[in-house]
Amino acid sequence: MSDLAELYQEIILDHNRSPRNFHEIPDCTCWAEGNNPRCGDEVKVFLRKKGDRLIEAAFQGQGCAISRASASLMTIKVKGRLVGEVLALSEKVRNMLMGVKEENLEDLGDLAALSGVRQFPARITCALLAWHALEKAMDGRHTLGVE
Ligand code: ZN
Repeated sequence: MSDLAELYQEIILDHNRSPRNFHEIPDCTCWAEGNNPRCGDEVKVFLRKKGDRLIEAAFQGQGCAISRASASLMTIKVKGRLVGEVLALSEKVRNMLMGVKEENLEDLGDLAALSGVRQFPARITCALLAWHALEKAMDGRHTLGVE
């Protein structure tokens, strides 16, 4: 394994072991859930939006290492960002995972650790699950209030 592949694997294992922002947000403004029955992954994404900015992002659920690591990395990366930036980021992650377009992995930071997943097509759904839920939540499913 190359050094980079090893580093990526270490990031995924670390986020699986101790996922960040792994809690509910009791006063969240929106949330959504995603299920991936093929693997048994379940994720619920909670967001607190103020105007157009996500001031808080968190998740709960259970699933494989890839789904948990992806959700954990996602919450870190989207917190504090504008909705438009988050949608652009989500598209980049999708492009990276589906191999549609060569993305500049440097702007993705630790999310680049997920790039290895594209070699395992069955796991791409695992990696994208939290991002689908995030988009659904931002789209106003289960909106609980507006700040
Ligand atoms: Zn999975």
